[in-house]
Amino acid sequence: MTTNRHRIKRPRSTSINPECVGLWRRITQLWPKRLACQLKSCDFPPNEYCADCTELGEVETRLQHLLGLHTWQTDLVFADDDEPPPHAVPAEYAQVRALRVALDKAIGINEDADEAEELPAQ
Ligand SMILES: [Zn+2]
Repeated sequence: MTTNRHRIKRPRSTSINPECVGLWRRITQLWPKRLACQLKSCDFPPNEYCADCTELGEVETRLQHLLGLHTWQTDLVFADDDEPPPHAVPAEYAQVRALRVALDKAIGINEDADEAEELPAQ
């Protein structure tokens, strides 16, 4: 027997408030430091997380909570492409991606502008 049931798409309140924007701005500042720390293995025993990595974790958790994202969804910092990564559920990725685009826009990052801009001919 087939079923005619459909999954109901509820409109999700994805309001990005000023706190979210501030948290995202902070994440973009801390993320390069985190990458540098991974190279130094600051997060492996016996070392403990440095202040930057600790703050990044706290800020990411807070932002996820405010946006209603789940821990199993793609991290906002990795939602930098319109194409979902192979392991992601497309619909869940699309939600994270839409938030990422809105957050980037809110802090003045515009990917399209980068692509459209061309260096003036010398
Ligand atoms: Zn660190």
